[in-house]
Amino acid sequence: MASKAKTGAASSPFAGHNPFLESVNAYFDKAAAIMDHPKGLLDQIRACNSVYYMQFPVRIKGGIQVIQAWRAEHSHHKLPTKGGIRYAMTVDQEEVQALAALMTYKCAVVDVPFGGGKGGIRIDPKQYTTEELERITRRYTVELIKKNFIGPAVDVPAPDYGTGPREMSWIADTYQSMVKDDINALGCVTGKPVGQGGVRGRTAATGRGLFFSVREAVNDPKLMKKLKMTTGLSDKRVIVQGFGNVGYHAAKFLQEGGATIVGIIEWDGAVVNPKGIDVESLKAHHAKKGSITGFAGAKTIKEGNSVLEHDCEILVPAALESQIHKGNAPKIKAKIIAEGANGPITSEAEPILLKKGILVMPDMFVNAGGVVVSYFEWLKNLSHVRFGRMDKRFDEGSSLRIIETVERLTGKSLTLAERAVIARGADEEDLVNSGLEDTMIMSYHAIMEHFNGNPRVKDMRTAAFVNSIDKIAQSYATLGIFP
Ligand code: GLU
Repeated sequence: MASKAKTGAASSPFAGHNPFLESVNAYFDKAAAIMDHPKGLLDQIRACNSVYYMQFPVRIKGGIQVIQAWRAEHSHHKLPTKGGIRYAMTVDQEEVQALAALMTYKCAVVDVPFGGGKGGIRIDPKQYTTEELERITRRYTVELIKKNFIGPAVDVPAPDYGTGPREMSWIADTYQSMVKDDINALGCVTGKPVGQGGVRGRTAATGRGLFFSVREAVNDPKLMKKLKMTTGLSDKRVIVQGFGNVGYHAAKFLQEGGATIVGIIEWDGAVVNPKGIDVESLKAHHAKKGSITGFAGAKTIKEGNSVLEHDCEILVPAALESQIHKGNAPKIKAKIIAEGANGPITSEAEPILLKKGILVMPDMFVNAGGVVVSYFEWLKNLSHVRFGRMDKRFDEGSSLRIIETVERLTGKSLTLAERAVIARGADEEDLVNSGLEDTMIMSYHAIMEHFNGNPRVKDMRTAAFVNSIDKIAQSYATLGIFP
């Protein structure tokens, strides 16, 4: 591992004992123990290939502040490496390494041809003005360019906790202005605003993917029988932790799919209503007040995380890592936990949950919708054409010709509204959402094949790991690195 620390460190890049990294590695080891790959190959798949630790000065409020930041490239078995950039005070080298490793496994599970990466800046974005955040982001990008830790063929960041399309547009602009002869420069980062090379559907993608994964599970009769639950979403009560991009969209799509959202948890409190919370009204309240607390359509609970232990069928932790630990795991009442966040359950907590018969749907599958649509965005940037641009009108014409033939043969005709629905050609968002839905469904069934068909696999996370490790091992074999 190449760790490049500059002098004058404000504090150590290592936080010491990091339960998140330990959990990711423990989960990997649990799956690796029941696989037949050579130890050296498994060691290479598990290892973090490179980490770049940087410190740089930024002018903040009239003074100079030294900013600490990282970018980890966990695996180069496929290129580019891919993964978000996080702005939070929790960021340290081990957190970034844990997140980068999860990206490797995640990309393999959903057949996205990237290695795993992750970046982070140790700041609380709430403490900075927009101009300061822009200066920090642009300087971070310059550091990445200098060390070849960014580029459409090298390493492609995306949003994560504390970042969004705005930060991605600053990164793209900085890259484009410094790397002048790269025709694919816009593909250096994903999650950009649509007007700056982004793809329609990216913002909602993680929440939408989560919805597809949960819908697939609750419509699986065999699985529901095992859990002693009925199929479908309509009788399912859901609690979501986090009301950021992932939590909000997950709650919205689950509600639209028929589930009842009985609790939403945020860092400053939770809101609960056994009759259901209207997600859009809560969103409007949040936009106005800057908090979900005090929402008229529900009861506010000050001790937000206590709601993780409330009665529900489906719990969606969609905030940060290590939220369900050995302290609260015995009190969790949900029957299904769908990991919207990366690493929300510690490896110490998971056996407690599994013993209680809870189905844990793992992060590397459940929250993969974001990187799936990032892949589509990157493809769009490399092809320099909007999805649907070449075929939308042609498809509409073909459908109309079929309709006209059927009308002529049957003597019956459709209304204009019916024609419009049937003959509509797919636009970019339709194609993105359909590609995402197909990916999540295919991955679900590939994982369940291991879960149901391999007696050594006892839980869904191990099934996903086995699926993922097999695919990564395969790419090393084709590269000729291992026999
Ligand atoms: N940060 C997201 C994740 O953890 C998205 C990564 C990406 O799109 O590259 O999956």
